[in-house]
Amino acid sequence: MNLPNCPKCNSEYTYEDGTMLVCPECGHEWMVNQETENDEDSSIIKDANGNVLSDGDTITVIKDLKVKGSSSVLKQGTKVKNIRLVEGDHDIDCKIDGFGPMKLKSEFVKKI
Ligand SMILES: [Zn+2]
Repeated sequence: MNLPNCPKCNSEYTYEDGTMLVCPECGHEWMVNQETENDEDSSIIKDANGNVLSDGDTITVIKDLKVKGSSSVLKQGTKVKNIRLVEGDHDIDCKIDGFGPMKLKSEFVKKI
């Protein structure tokens, strides 16, 4: 199960109780699959470990990634500084030394 973090306190220790999700840390309860009305909450992007990413973060790539339109491979462990979060399938916009501007998927990165 991959439950969302608590929309109030961002705790990752949420659990399901019937049709509700419950946060044991702040006591907040909310409906499963309910879209949050707060734009900020709905735009939360998390890395492979579930840590929330923000603009300017430094991340590392957790697996070898093929670079679209080239034969190069972005190696696992590559450090990427100063990421920018964007909307879409590839939700991280960044610039990587030796590669130039790139878009990455947050599920393949880890915040440092
Ligand atoms: Zn909470």
